[in-house]
Amino acid sequence: MILSYATILDILFPKFCIHCEREGSYLCEDCLSLINILEEQYCPFCQIPKITRNGKTCNNCAKLKNLDSLFCAVSYENLLIKKTIKLFKYEPFIKELSKHLTGLIIAHLQILKEKPQADFVIPIPCHKHKLKKRGFNQATEIALKLSKFLEIPLLDDVLIKTKQTPPQMRLTRQEREENVKGVFLCKKPEIMVDKKILLIDDILTTGATIEECAKILKNAGAKEVCAIVVARGIINN
Ligand SMILES: [Zn+2]
Ligand SMILES: [Zn+2]
Repeated sequence: MILSYATILDILFPKFCIHCEREGSYLCEDCLSLINILEEQYCPFCQIPKITRNGKTCNNCAKLKNLDSLFCAVSYENLLIKKTIKLFKYEPFIKELSKHLTGLIIAHLQILKEKPQADFVIPIPCHKHKLKKRGFNQATEIALKLSKFLEIPLLDDVLIKTKQTPPQMRLTRQEREENVKGVFLCKKPEIMVDKKILLIDDILTTGATIEECAKILKNAGAKEVCAIVVARGIINN
């Protein structure tokens, strides 16, 4: 019997569920089912959740913002999601979790009976130094899989992050906006003209990073910029 490479890896490095520690995968079916998939969508920017159709930015926010809409699969308040996304960011060997996180997004889209259309899927980039240190960009891992599912080409070398920034986590709403201002660059603006872009990230909190990327792409000529994230967090400042 010839074993596949994947099977050999499974034998050498068995996987255990990060939640219940059962052997088999990093997130077992039972634990996955504990994660509630959102059935509604909200304006990406309103602090008090405002339900909008297909996650469109509400009329008030649209006056100030570039991002047109957002699909968000689950709430970051779910403890298992918090754990999964934290591990995914900081434990490179669990890169495989991207499969489950993308699965949550796909489940969300299926509940809504939506299949977003766009010209390109673009992951929110991280700085090259961070990429080197971590070995992968978690947004790219999700974007790769989603690009296949949605049958939309992936562009991962056009939108780049030119400056390293302190993590957004401990910053206030306003500091987050300042922190990401001018740190992204669109290398080939001509590609963006009149295009619809789908930005991908793991988590959205204030939306500052995704909005900054949407602004760069709109300035380059994109006609519509939407986003898909796994989870949405909340901050109170
Ligand atoms: Zn489990
Ligand atoms: Zn709003």
